[in-house]
Amino acid sequence: MKGTPYFLPLSQAVDLTLKHTISCSTEIVDIDDAHQRILAEDLHSKVNDPPFDNSAMDGFAVRFEDTKTAPSTLDIIAISQAAAGDETLSIESGQAVRIMTGAPVPIGADAIIPIEACSIEGDKVTLQQPSKPHFIRKCGENITKNAVGLKKGTFLTPQSISMCATMGHATVPVVQKLRIGIISTGDELKPPGQTLSYGEIYESNSYGLAGLVKMLGHVPVRYEAVHDSMDALRDQFDIAASECDLFLTSGGVSMGEWDFVRRLMETEGDIVFWRVKIRPGSPPLFGHWKGTPMFGLPGNPVSSHVVFRMLVVPYLRGCIGSSYPVDQIVHARLQTNVRSTKDCLTLRRVTLKSTIDGFVANQPKHQGSGNIDSLSSADALTLLQPGQSGDAGELIEVLLL
Ligand code: AMP
Ligand code: MG
Repeated sequence: MKGTPYFLPLSQAVDLTLKHTISCSTEIVDIDDAHQRILAEDLHSKVNDPPFDNSAMDGFAVRFEDTKTAPSTLDIIAISQAAAGDETLSIESGQAVRIMTGAPVPIGADAIIPIEACSIEGDKVTLQQPSKPHFIRKCGENITKNAVGLKKGTFLTPQSISMCATMGHATVPVVQKLRIGIISTGDELKPPGQTLSYGEIYESNSYGLAGLVKMLGHVPVRYEAVHDSMDALRDQFDIAASECDLFLTSGGVSMGEWDFVRRLMETEGDIVFWRVKIRPGSPPLFGHWKGTPMFGLPGNPVSSHVVFRMLVVPYLRGCIGSSYPVDQIVHARLQTNVRSTKDCLTLRRVTLKSTIDGFVANQPKHQGSGNIDSLSSADALTLLQPGQSGDAGELIEVLLL
């Protein structure tokens, strides 16, 4: 450990991890399979959207000049429906075309009168209100051909998938998912569903971490918890390094004699840094095991989650070359005192309420780093800077969970 950067401010730790990012390759997937994937390249529109001037209303396409006063009566000369093929359809003074929403606007028409304002008698229509030159969706008004509609790094949500389709893409280039190994460590851990013996607890970290990995669009590879032994850990690290792009461990990184992850990394791995100035979660380490990046997260359930958010998320952003996920940070006024620390970023778990004066934050649960209930019932983590008081009444930043 001699010479290993030690107890770093978070920003320095993040910067160090970013010197060791792995690059992600690109794969082309069918648009149906692109949900929750990350766009690997800027996506240009193949078409103007809309591709032609069309009506935003069900009604009559008219000439604005003809219909400035009401009532006015016009001759109905044709019907324009969606996908109507007649590109030459045009109107002249005194004429109107019955038009459906989305149908092409005839040449010469520059206003649409909604059907509610029209009375029809035979082949005549009387407009009960003067027209305005609107309700026409102009060719390319949403996006023009070749313009970038979605940026590289976009997380593909239902709304952005719709955008891909609108731009004419049947397939999209996405970042290949990273396979991220998750190894819990500790003799006391039992999988949920089994009966606990005295001294045992249910293993929970790997499940939460797997969820975080999935949330970010990657593939978790969750291994069975490993016993506190150098040999067992070494074997499991070898498997994870060969099967995964990177791996996470939880537990065993503190100063204790039984903290074998730290000891194994010290003796046989390459540690880039150990310990970070955040509370909870100060003991993480980052390094490589036989060339594969690994994060040693703390074992306490809240800490493992918080450290993932603070260290692993920015690292994955660096790997995929994207700002996803954007940290959602808002201001909130503390309603309860929150204990801060002198030299660490303090991440307490708070609930939020929206009020007319902005968000207010409460800390209803005890903040032990083993209390996962304090996290699962929280809306946000405080971002209390070193030295900030954390007193009730203070306006602070919080990171939405
Ligand atoms: P450690 O960092 O290994 O000393 O663990 C710190 C605390 O977190 C201990 O109370 C462990 O029992 C608990 N812990 C460690 N790993 C897990 C896990 N995977 N799930 C739940 N609790 C854990
Ligand atoms: Mg342990």
